[in-house]
Amino acid sequence: MSETVVKIENLVKRYKDLIALDHFSLEIKQGEIFGLLGPNGSGKTTTINCLLSLLAFDKGTIEIFGKKMTPDSYDIKRDIGIIMQNVAVYDELTVGENIDYFCGLYINDSKKRKEYVEEAIRFVGLEEFRKFYPKKLSGGLLRRLNIACGIAHKPKLIILDEPTVAVDPQSRNKILEGIQQLNKNGATIIYTSHYMEEVEQICTRIAIMDKGKKIAEGTNEELKKMIKNSETVNIDMFMIPENALSEIRDLPHVYSAEFENNVLQVKCDGGTHNLIRILSILQNHELKFGRVYSELPTLNDVFLEITGKALRDSD
Ligand code: ADP
Ligand code: MG
Repeated sequence: MSETVVKIENLVKRYKDLIALDHFSLEIKQGEIFGLLGPNGSGKTTTINCLLSLLAFDKGTIEIFGKKMTPDSYDIKRDIGIIMQNVAVYDELTVGENIDYFCGLYINDSKKRKEYVEEAIRFVGLEEFRKFYPKKLSGGLLRRLNIACGIAHKPKLIILDEPTVAVDPQSRNKILEGIQQLNKNGATIIYTSHYMEEVEQICTRIAIMDKGKKIAEGTNEELKKMIKNSETVNIDMFMIPENALSEIRDLPHVYSAEFENNVLQVKCDGGTHNLIRILSILQNHELKFGRVYSELPTLNDVFLEITGKALRDSD
């Protein structure tokens, strides 16, 4: 059994009348890439700020590396790397100087620090930008600098709060690969995001949050087994008569069939020949159709079934 790195029990955080965290509990083991997935406002950043003792909370306990976390737990903080949602670097320092500054908060030995700073620069791919000031960097490069500042001191626990919001696809991939590499090198990762695809791609375990509550938890596969949706069949077509639609609805394993915006969408809860059965009904009615595609459930479907609303939202 792996060691517990983070243990949050019954955390309650109120902002006046608003309950931002509602008896929220979490246990994260060494070696995980743990995903906190939830829409904007669900309480991810509040969780991180409480975890780091940056924010006082109303109820609950937090332990990191088996010790109670308090605002002056400097020994614990030394082993944590934090990459905040809002980029926090100094405009008057260059890329290299920024990383050196943040690394220097933890690493005193100047020779070792120089090595670590170089390693961090290489790690995020900012070699050609080390003399640049942050204002000259694109959004994606700035995010990479923010990450380098958080990881240069080689922390055992790395917390990244929405590190990919509004970055270009190239930087996004670089960041996601980087997170996996840090994990391979031995760090435990907490990764918050409202992008379910990213969480699916890299996280070993996921907690889904909504309105300050944990609504589901497990591996990607476990979460998808919690819901009845197993396959969604989509068929592009111009029209479908009501009798054909109701025949499809009566098929075994079909629990919903809707026609909207020239797409027939059929949701199934298991079975193996759903697509063939649906198409043969269309054929019997001599109906024309275009593109046909089948989708496996996503974490959005999990969120939708549990909360009744879509997770997907704009940035
Ligand atoms: P997330 O990071 O998942 O987007 P947050 O933790 O930032 O969510 O916010 C959770 C809830 O707490 C939201 O409803 C947000 O509006 C509210 N909130 C966050 N920070 C404050 C604050 N400083 N004062 C009042 N309300 C806040
Ligand atoms: Mg947030």
